[in-house]
Amino acid sequence: MTHETRIDDLPIRDELRGKSPYGAPQLDVPVRLNTNENPYPLPEPLVARIAERVAEAARHLNRYPDRDAVELRTELARYLTRTAGHEVGMRQVWAANGSNEVLQQLLQTFGGPSRTAIGFEPSYSMHALISRGTGTGWISGPRRDDFTIDVEAAERAIAEHRPNVVFVCSPNNPTGTAVGAETVLRLYEAAQAAGPSLVVLDEAYGEFSHGPSLLPLIEGRPNLVVSRTMSKAFGAAGLRLGYLAADAAVVDAVQLVRLPYHLSAVTQATALAALEHTDTLLGYVEQLKAERDRLVTELRAMGCEVTDSDANFVQFGRFEDSPAAWRAILDHGVLVRDNGVPGWLRVTAGTPQENDAFLDAVRAVLKESK
Ligand code: PMP
Repeated sequence: MTHETRIDDLPIRDELRGKSPYGAPQLDVPVRLNTNENPYPLPEPLVARIAERVAEAARHLNRYPDRDAVELRTELARYLTRTAGHEVGMRQVWAANGSNEVLQQLLQTFGGPSRTAIGFEPSYSMHALISRGTGTGWISGPRRDDFTIDVEAAERAIAEHRPNVVFVCSPNNPTGTAVGAETVLRLYEAAQAAGPSLVVLDEAYGEFSHGPSLLPLIEGRPNLVVSRTMSKAFGAAGLRLGYLAADAAVVDAVQLVRLPYHLSAVTQATALAALEHTDTLLGYVEQLKAERDRLVTELRAMGCEVTDSDANFVQFGRFEDSPAAWRAILDHGVLVRDNGVPGWLRVTAGTPQENDAFLDAVRAVLKESK
């Protein structure tokens, strides 16, 4: 019998040996509330507009796309200026295939071999994984038991490790916790004193926050980057469009590592169509925020502990055995996420019907466990 080659038989980089890829289970169950997607399909008029713009782009697919995505960056800058309370120009915006690629380009530029990045965990697991993928050393910084950032402890960690990149995720995935401007400013100062280093404020869920975006903080702070995505608020996870806003010099810097023509003409056309329908899409965001708040209230009324959430998901618990609770909820036809935070699970706000199904499932599971 021939031996089946495994990853570790290959001459791969040592730091990748024995590791697993990122992977939320993609199971076929009636109610899927596990990957923080927007439950609302794009409205039909927008679907028609995408078809129109993509058809136009298709007429030129023999050519490479606009390498600098100028029209798209101009519209993204306009969107940020209108919604985030701060005037942003095209030269301060950069776009890539999902904010994961934005983060990867930032780490390729500001991290890399012999450099390190820090995040305050539990947080978005891809910050650590993209660091590893780019050869950047990862430092796990602390959070309090209530999942807020202990600023003094974070300042000490930054001073001690002198990381080249500091990740602040707000609202934080998987806990839903937002940070205030004061916290970001103190971490920025600590990072400049220890580095200077780049501070990446990951606002993938920014539009769902009760408070305003912290984007205005980029003014006069060239080492602060705000990362955003169209995967959540724009309901376009399948599009793969993420972007950043920062000093124009940061945008110039990431161009040193981006692949030429990384953003396809089809992607640019689709994103531009979606941006034409911003108001409709932001209307869905308002509905989801109300549903998120309802999930918090109803879970608490059932006796669950719930972390305050500014995102489109809610962290709830506490379970003695969270993998078993995850399985029990799945047995009731609802897929939520076990992010490996002991005692806690995470549910994405879905449609009112999906959320009702989820709440019924949790109610049933709590009753069964009595
Ligand atoms: N940042 C955070 C905090 C996220 O939760 C996610 C998606 N789950 C991303 C970035 C990446 O999203 P995308 O690549 O779809 O823009």
